[in-house]
Amino acid sequence: MQTDITDDFLATDIGQQANTILRKCVHCGFCNATCPTYQLLGDELDGPRGRIYQIKNILEGQLPSQETQTHLDRCLTCRNCEITCPSGVDYGELLTIGRDLIESKVERTLWDRFRRWCIRETLAYPARFAALLGLGQVFRPLAPAAIRKMIPPRQQKISWPDSDQSTRRILLLQGCVQPALSPAINLATANVLQQLGIHAIMEKPAACCGALHHHTSGQTEALDFMRRRIDAWWPHIENGIEAIISTASGCGVHIKDYDKLLASDEKYRDKAIKISALTKDIAEFLNKEDLSLLKTSATENIAYHAPCSLQHGQRLNGLVEQILKQVGINLSPVKDSHLCCGSAGSYSLLNPKLSMQLGQQKIQALTAEHPALILTANIGCQLHLASKTDKPVKHWIEVLAG
Ligand code: SF4
Ligand code: SF4
Repeated sequence: MQTDITDDFLATDIGQQANTILRKCVHCGFCNATCPTYQLLGDELDGPRGRIYQIKNILEGQLPSQETQTHLDRCLTCRNCEITCPSGVDYGELLTIGRDLIESKVERTLWDRFRRWCIRETLAYPARFAALLGLGQVFRPLAPAAIRKMIPPRQQKISWPDSDQSTRRILLLQGCVQPALSPAINLATANVLQQLGIHAIMEKPAACCGALHHHTSGQTEALDFMRRRIDAWWPHIENGIEAIISTASGCGVHIKDYDKLLASDEKYRDKAIKISALTKDIAEFLNKEDLSLLKTSATENIAYHAPCSLQHGQRLNGLVEQILKQVGINLSPVKDSHLCCGSAGSYSLLNPKLSMQLGQQKIQALTAEHPALILTANIGCQLHLASKTDKPVKHWIEVLAG
């Protein structure tokens, strides 16, 4: 694609980066075929090619409008288009550049600013979120059925396995909402690792990796969150942990990008590179281990939903399925397994209608073979799916813990 980026933008690193990405695009439109929002809305401006053009126009000097902002907001950041693109266009990076530019030029409505602020100020703080969830759980029995399904029941308090003498150690991330919503996930992870002779050091205190602010117009705060996480994790790295493990693929994909997001921060750049390199999804880490000793709690009649942040974002497509097969679990086939479930971080709160449509499509595909259990690899997808079915929805690591 030919570009005519303004001199002002071309003089910046971001402008150069965007120009390189844009020039790779041959506007073939193959990406539209796998884009969930294009499939639902049928509008070129709500597909990847159209969004690329809209970002190009801004970089070439056109002023963005609220309409442009809406088309970019509707993107799930599922990155399915990147996988389909024959030219290797880094759509995710271009979208981040485009969104940041629009954010600085188009003022959001009061309502939009308010709801984004609410998401940032509650979900990204584990103690605040746990208190709000606790309140919701108290009144859950009185709520209408539709709301009740969205509030997960109270979880049992768990105790963390005692530290052991294993020479192999990893740092296990808690994230922001997962400790309150499903503490069983990390407990199962620690148990599985213990069976393999690896000690999981639990990140304390639980904290957000910065992804929530990054996706809700809080770029400056997002960078501060990331710097604080680096400071908190660094002593563990100096003490020789093998890896930083995430059981939420939405967090993992963001932490793996710390190196890019902090590239211009002289103080944190090198540490961010190290952190990104050490960060692994639990599937990625276990894939290199001998799993023959593990006992599973279920083996049949199971469907698996692969989160976009794992299969497209982290490019780990098929890995969980491979691990589950290795331990004797047969998964039911799932139609259109490459498509997003509509959870997409804060997307389900900011774009509820599209999110609901995608969630219902996904549940139909997952339950077509009448599974007894649905597994996934990200807390956001887990909750989103669980609110749309009566079948149990769990993280896949829980069936490996026996
Ligand atoms: S598939 Fe790739 S090259 Fe083709 S329009 Fe989409 S982004 Fe551009
Ligand atoms: S990231 Fe997903 S929703 Fe966004 S343009 Fe690409 S395929 Fe479409």
